Amino acid sequence: MKTIGVIGGMSWESSAEYYKLLNRHAKARLGGHHNARSLMLTVDFAPVEALQRAGDWSALGEQMADAARRLERGGADLVMLATNTMHRVYESIEQAIEVPFLHIADPTGEALRAAGIERVGLLGTRYTMEQTFYTGRLRERHGLDTLVPDEAGRAYVHRIIYDELCHGKITDDSREVYQRVIEDLAARGAQAVILGCTEITLLIKPEDSVLPVFDTTALHAQAAVEWAVEVK
Ligand code: GLU
Repeated sequence: MKTIGVIGGMSWESSAEYYKLLNRHAKARLGGHHNARSLMLTVDFAPVEALQRAGDWSALGEQMADAARRLERGGADLVMLATNTMHRVYESIEQAIEVPFLHIADPTGEALRAAGIERVGLLGTRYTMEQTFYTGRLRERHGLDTLVPDEAGRAYVHRIIYDELCHGKITDDSREVYQRVIEDLAARGAQAVILGCTEITLLIKPEDSVLPVFDTTALHAQAAVEWAVEVK
């Protein structure tokens, strides 16, 4: 089995979920006492979050590249980034390492296409919903049309991610807000919804949503394990 390198900490609440899912998938796939061979480098999220707000994506690109290099030096055969938002700088990571980088939008796009979805709602941070790095990849590589919530919906979804989910705060009120946003996306023609922020899975389960849910955290972790097992 190959070794998966995870750039984590954004937030650690979702990285803990990744750790669990990587090992669960490995056990489901291989049985017995199998784990996923993995390394996780947890970055300090406070300066990362401040640089996001400042729009300093080039400094963030350098920090992510540095984390990826450290994982590669530590023996990672594959690098993954446990946040959708920071894929804004995925090119800096790819350029910094020799080993493959597993982009989070790809397993998600593939799962959506396999389910016959063409028009999909996207929930995530403002950066993910409003910039083109994510929706563009879904369109160009996977032929998917993406719908995002209206301005008020985007503001709620973004605020709840940073003020609550990244601190491990899960509330019924915020779940209801997300449910209303998903209902609105369904009314506008979305056939499914992407949980395009790695903490949303802590708040929204498939049964909470009127639309089929595509959880980037779970799909990303599963794809990494498949790669690690198949490449051998
Ligand atoms: N984990 C989140 C994501 O998947 C948001 C936190 C961050 O800014 O990285 O986008």
